[in-house]
Amino acid sequence: MDFQGYEAVIGLEVHTELQTESKMFCGCSARTFGEPPNTHVCPVCLGMPGSLPVPNERAIEWAIKIALALNCEIPPFSQFHRKNYFYPDMPKNYQISQYDFPIGVNGYIDIDTEEGEKRIRIHRVHLEEDTGKLIHIGKTGRISEAEHSLIDFNRAGIPLVEIVTEADIRSPEEAKIYMQYLRSLILTLGVSDCNMEEGSMRCDANVSVRPKGKTDFGVKTEIKNLNSFRALERGLRYEIERQIELLNSGKEVVQETRHFDAQSKRTVTLRTKEEAHDYRYFPDPDLVPMEFPREYIEKIKSSLPELPKQRKGRFVSEYGIRPKDAAILVRERELADFFEEAVSFFNKPQQIANWLLSELIYHLNRADLNITECAVTPKHLADLVKLIEDGVISTKIAKEVFSESFETGKLPSIIVEEKGVVQISDEEILVPIIKQVLQENPKAVEDIKSGKKQAIGFIVGQVMKITKGKANPQSVTNFLNKILGSGLEL
Ligand code: ADP
Ligand code: MG
Ligand code: ZN
Repeated sequence: MDFQGYEAVIGLEVHTELQTESKMFCGCSARTFGEPPNTHVCPVCLGMPGSLPVPNERAIEWAIKIALALNCEIPPFSQFHRKNYFYPDMPKNYQISQYDFPIGVNGYIDIDTEEGEKRIRIHRVHLEEDTGKLIHIGKTGRISEAEHSLIDFNRAGIPLVEIVTEADIRSPEEAKIYMQYLRSLILTLGVSDCNMEEGSMRCDANVSVRPKGKTDFGVKTEIKNLNSFRALERGLRYEIERQIELLNSGKEVVQETRHFDAQSKRTVTLRTKEEAHDYRYFPDPDLVPMEFPREYIEKIKSSLPELPKQRKGRFVSEYGIRPKDAAILVRERELADFFEEAVSFFNKPQQIANWLLSELIYHLNRADLNITECAVTPKHLADLVKLIEDGVISTKIAKEVFSESFETGKLPSIIVEEKGVVQISDEEILVPIIKQVLQENPKAVEDIKSGKKQAIGFIVGQVMKITKGKANPQSVTNFLNKILGSGLEL
């Protein structure tokens, strides 16, 4: 993608909380979102002196699962390190994380972009523990305006997987698609709910720009904690423009960490390189290193479910839908599920896909809703497509019916019945209308007779107008040809 002669270079660091029963290094519940503060804590996750961590085997297995699904190598040796820094959300003053021996390395994920399939390489996948949550009390909830802050340790110690890409992404749009594929993939594995609003999936975006054609990377900035696809796209877009503006006016980009403010849609400095941390990583002496037998990895590998890329292939081969549509569907797990369920109700896959990807998406965007939150269910969509396929309603009417169904949650067939918007295919009704239109448009009649196809479209359009969109266009065309072919005097 071209940005005024510059190219953007982007690498993402995504954190995903694992939905194991218990936390990473203690027996506390890991399902703590929305629970009263500090009700799922113990000496281990509160960092009390003398407490000892015990690794959660399931979390390790799930991290390996994610790494394998991302085509990573799983080195036979892995280790936990202490990442030392002070912050009030972390009472041990170090976070148990991984350093030079992560769970997975050298993976990749293929995403479908406007320009075709593109491979994004995965640098590493590692396992760590989440921190507690600070709640800033004040007018805005922002730290800078807080009177005081409270701390909730329920989240402390929840297993967290970090997935780091190589800097292979070239636009905000691509970053969003990568993130969508990644989320779809992890949801498919069933190891996290990937809820971005609740913070169980979060993203830090590293971005730099360089003159197009250059191979060296420019100086990057890192935007922290982007918590929605929209924030990711907007934050990156703002940051790319800001960096280009700096370079164009002869200034330099400063390497720093920035925060994206969703309200002003701007990024602001959080900390610069001078304040950068030296984490003094060292192996955690309380935790033994891990060695994974080959059979163990193979067993996890063979347990992997159908992943989005394979699902895309199956949608094309099994349902015969357009590859481009299949790619968009599997990018969001919920869309793909919705599609398959709708097809199970009415087996016209391409038509279902068409309506899902155009009308339904359009209404969802307009109402700012997720597909799981809206009143239209797979049954509704299947019902609508069936009405069209059976010739009961025209496409034009179908759009209106769909719109009402979206608003009210009523089944399309019920709306059609209540409103009497059933399509007219009846010869006795249509022929007189067609004749009237022909009489009023002698020029079009001549055009049709001399073989001009567009003129038929014109006549059909006029009939649609008179019938308020209820005429079945195919029937109108048939009758029209019959009338003109039979040489009726008009
Ligand atoms: P840090 O130590 O600052 O976290 P890393 O080298 O670990 O930086 O890289 C973090 C992420 O930033 C990775 O996804 C990487 O691909 C990306 N990245 C590194 N350098 C650049 C750059 N110049 N421009 C854009 N992204 C970059
Ligand atoms: Mg970083
Ligand atoms: Zn605990």
